[in-house]
Order: sequence, then C-alpha cells, then structure tokens
Amino acid sequence: MSIIDNIKIFLMNKANNETAAAPKGFCPNCWGRQEYGGNFYEAMKNEGVNIASIDQKKGWIQDYVDKNLSGIALQKKGTSQTCSVCYATYNQEH
Ligand SMILES: [Zn+2]
Repeated sequence: MSIIDNIKIFLMNKANNETAAAPKGFCPNCWGRQEYGGNFYEAMKNEGVNIASIDQKKGWIQDYVDKNLSGIALQKKGTSQTCSVCYATYNQEH
C-alpha cells in the first residue's frame, strides 16, 4: 500500500472517532509524541484535505510527507523496520 492509502485509512479512522494510530509506515512513537499527527491533521484541515478530496490532494500530501514526515518514516532493515529519529525498531507488520 502507498503512503496515500495509509493516510486515507488514518483519516477514515479519525472520522469514525476511532483512536487513530500512526499511519502504517510511520513511527508510532514519534507520530504520537511529537504530535506529528495533530500538526498533520491541522494542516490537512487548512488545505481542505478530507476523505472525499484526498485523491485530488495526493500531490499536496506527498509534498507534506516529504517535507515534514519523511524523518519518521520507518526504514526497512531485514525483517524489521527502524525509525531514524528515535531508533525504535518494529517488526514488519507495523
Ligand atoms: Zn521514532
């Protein structure tokens, strides 16, 4: 799945008021602790990104991710994934 798909799922969970963990592929530790989630959600709201418009806003999302979230994107290392910010290691299912 692409980052866009993962963020779409994240938005749908948010819309259902489910506790939205970090989108797949991002470090859950950093996502929560540094409030990337909150900042990102706020930025998306300002940009008018929602489940209905996400496909048209793919470019903006990709840009935002590259600029602001690439640091906490998990890096694959063998059978696990590592965060380059806090060095937490997760298994591949995360
Ligand atoms: Zn991390």
